Amino acid sequence: MEPVVERVSDAAPQPTPRERPLVELRNVAAGYTDPSGARVDVATDLNLTLKRGEMAYLIGPTGSGKSTLLKLLYMDVKPEYGVVRVGPYQSDATKERDIPHLRRMLGVVFQDFKLLPDRSAVENVSFALHATGKRGKVVRQKALQALAEVGLSHRAKARPSEMSGGEQQRACIARALVNDPVLLLADEPTGNLDPRVADEIQGLLVKVHRQGMALLMATHDYRLVKAFPARTLALVRGRLVEVDPDSL
Ligand code: ADP
Ligand code: MG
Repeated sequence: MEPVVERVSDAAPQPTPRERPLVELRNVAAGYTDPSGARVDVATDLNLTLKRGEMAYLIGPTGSGKSTLLKLLYMDVKPEYGVVRVGPYQSDATKERDIPHLRRMLGVVFQDFKLLPDRSAVENVSFALHATGKRGKVVRQKALQALAEVGLSHRAKARPSEMSGGEQQRACIARALVNDPVLLLADEPTGNLDPRVADEIQGLLVKVHRQGMALLMATHDYRLVKAFPARTLALVRGRLVEVDPDSL
């Protein structure tokens, strides 16, 4: 008999670059040297693909390496072994001067907001546009539009100290979205919020993702993962394991 299956796969067209996954990690090892000079191995063998427009949670206890994995993606941490690729940017071929270009493809949201304290919400969002070279009237227009998308139009002139935690995180999401990234990285974005507000923020992130943006979100809040189920990856001893959110 002819090996039909094999013949079919032989004939399958090779994926063109456009069809490549958005993100790939292959056999990635990474870690740190602590102040005493000792090695801390965080990732030992990370393998991951994330498609355009896909959403995934990254779960694991504190210290398991969630933030390190996100840092590998925005190239704040370099792999010691293996390759990280985000869009056209591959870790072994990306020069220091190209990293700002990579980061323009990304929006990043943190647990502790990282808003500029002496600037209003609209100024914080405008700052992200200035950082990518945008100037003129369009900056304020785009910033106000981003604030409207996250339901914060009425707080555009408020400074971070005048905003609730949920409002500050909305401002951060607006700042992350304003340059139309293809991938949103969120590092425990609900970690400082009470459960009701956490659900609102999570609902907003999922809404934004459904408009076409890939979303990789680190969290140790399993309640949230169950409430908004999506592909879930657990960091276990430096490796990624796919888990069923229902099993959490
Ligand atoms: P998570 O986000 O899951 O809490 P992290 O990626 O922040 O985990 O940290 C993983 C491990 O790496 C922890 O043991 C942490 O102490 C260590 N670590 C993180 N950043 C540094 C650093 N800059 N220098 C040394 N060790 C670090
Ligand atoms: Mg972390």
